[in-house]
Amino acid sequence: MELEEIVEISGSCLYNILRSIAEKGRDEAIGDIIGRKYKKKYILINAFPWQKTESNRISVCHEDDNARKRVIQMDIEMRDSGIFNHYIIGQYHSHIFNSNEERVYLNLEDIDFFRTQMQWLKLSESIQIVCSIKIKKYARRQKPQEIIRQYLKKLRIIHRGNNIGYDIIFAAYKLERDKVRELPIRKRRIRVVARK
Ligand SMILES: [Zn+2]
Repeated sequence: MELEEIVEISGSCLYNILRSIAEKGRDEAIGDIIGRKYKKKYILINAFPWQKTESNRISVCHEDDNARKRVIQMDIEMRDSGIFNHYIIGQYHSHIFNSNEERVYLNLEDIDFFRTQMQWLKLSESIQIVCSIKIKKYARRQKPQEIIRQYLKKLRIIHRGNNIGYDIIFAAYKLERDKVRELPIRKRRIRVVARK
């Protein structure tokens, strides 16, 4: 039996995405995912938010093609020279909902947009993380709290602090030129190598 492919997201990647989401407020958070493929695993080690000067609530975008191409050029050079074995493996972006709507994940516009990024990056496949968010405001200050739930395919983080709460469901997709498939996403465990 062939083992299923899986996406493992490290704590630093997860929390940098959470910071990016907090920074954007009700605007879309978007950025690159840094990682590598190891056997059947896509290991995501970090997230790099795109610099956008204008807010954009309705669709995925980046601000400036030239700025974007400089980042991509650098990444392709590092990847090709083998200097660094982690590279831009895909992107993350957020969808923000009010409390009662049904959540939606990767849509056709997203697929089109991220396939273009894949071409620019000279990748034959990419990993897309969609963060589906419900934001809750509280009248009273909340005790900092975090709940992580692992579902069959998705990962959920409920994060509360101060007077704001984020309920985020992470979904992962493997995007290829002619197909798209959801992959299970899990939080990566840190292995203890030595004890002091
Ligand atoms: Zn989207």
